[in-house]
Amino acid sequence: MDDRGDRKMYDVTCSDCGSATQVPFEPKEGRPVYCRACYGKHKKRF
Ligand SMILES: [Zn+2]
Repeated sequence: MDDRGDRKMYDVTCSDCGSATQVPFEPKEGRPVYCRACYGKHKKRF
């Protein structure tokens, strides 16, 4: 069907660079969240 653009996004602050960003999952308290750039960086490193 037509579900494009219907994804819920959550406003978060990147735990690495501090930039305001959005993630497609619900952020958990005490867990780091990253913007796209930092997420890729951390994922690659891991
Ligand atoms: Zn970042």
